[in-house]
Amino acid sequence: MTRIYYTKPSITELEVNYAMDAVANGWGDKCYDYIYRFENLFKEHLNVKYAIATSSCTGALHMGLAALGIGPGDEVILADTNWIATAAPITYLCATPVFVDILPDTWCINPELAEKAITPKTKAIIATHLYGNLCEMDKLLAIGERYNIPIIEDAAEAIGSVYHGKRAGSMGLFGTFSFHGTKTVTTGEGGMFVTNDEVLYEKVFTFSNHGRARGQTKQFWPDMIGFKYKMSNVQAAIGCAQMERIKELGKRKREIFKYYAKNLLELNGISMNPEKEGTVNGYWMPTVVFSKETKVTREELLEAFRSENIDARVFFWPLSSLPMFDPKPENEWAWDIPGRAINLPTYHDLTIEEIDRICNILISIL
Ligand SMILES: *Cc1c(COP(=O)(O)O)cnc(C)c1O
Repeated sequence: MTRIYYTKPSITELEVNYAMDAVANGWGDKCYDYIYRFENLFKEHLNVKYAIATSSCTGALHMGLAALGIGPGDEVILADTNWIATAAPITYLCATPVFVDILPDTWCINPELAEKAITPKTKAIIATHLYGNLCEMDKLLAIGERYNIPIIEDAAEAIGSVYHGKRAGSMGLFGTFSFHGTKTVTTGEGGMFVTNDEVLYEKVFTFSNHGRARGQTKQFWPDMIGFKYKMSNVQAAIGCAQMERIKELGKRKREIFKYYAKNLLELNGISMNPEKEGTVNGYWMPTVVFSKETKVTREELLEAFRSENIDARVFFWPLSSLPMFDPKPENEWAWDIPGRAINLPTYHDLTIEEIDRICNILISIL
């Protein structure tokens, strides 16, 4: 039986042609052309004023948090269910990540618990739109306003997700994206920082340029210590092609999810990524969570997928269960759900027959 990978990018002639053009011609005075074009396409898509392409989402988050002045002794609140990339930049700045529990249906940060976790040291709340599912942005933004704490969106998994007319990543003080090979839009590795705040944009712009301010006329004169998280022109060329195909890429993600859902949601004891009233889910990663009553376990799922030559991906471990953080088992859902859940393969060229093969495993397990 042929192997089914859990993800792979959709690369067409367009990506190849742009990358070849960049590698052949994109040097000298053209060395930023694809980068600017990619940033502009991204801004247009998201409907935001400013965007800075980066080498990763991790880098984008690092610069954004640094621009907010976050440092030693400060706290940043985020969901315990997260990829490490969301928490790592907090620790780079010697600040403390404060992990709170998720909601049982969206698997995103619980706004009430985020509010309860606020202390005088809290400098930001990060809303990660997990697997394409949307955080409750209305509640989070209201909390941010009430306590004067910025809400940041980690939208790495949420290209294509829309919350009451606004795209994921465009609602917080700033948003970050990833173009890692597994993401809906990819450049191999890469990221984006976006914001509507001009002052913040200028700070991050200077940071992103090794501390050289825009108006600085002296050559090789950094005004401060900055960062080096730039995207290359060749990567941006691939990104331009992906952005030109964004509708097609997003549509296919939704088709794949819908087909899974049609096969699986009628079974008792399964829930999947929700799409709440007034929102669009980009469905980056279709995920099934088995109810406790089914007694289905992650290990059982991993083994069944392995034996059928299909990649399985575990639901994120709670970050507070990792050795470098203090355990917070009171984050009940974040600690419980991963033990009875799994991410399903999804990529542009996945076929109906392959999805059926995957669904049959889940059906036989139940
Ligand atoms: C993929 C991902 C990141 C990391 O992106 P990189 O580009 O690899 O740094 C950050 N946050 C979330 C939620 C992600 O899924």
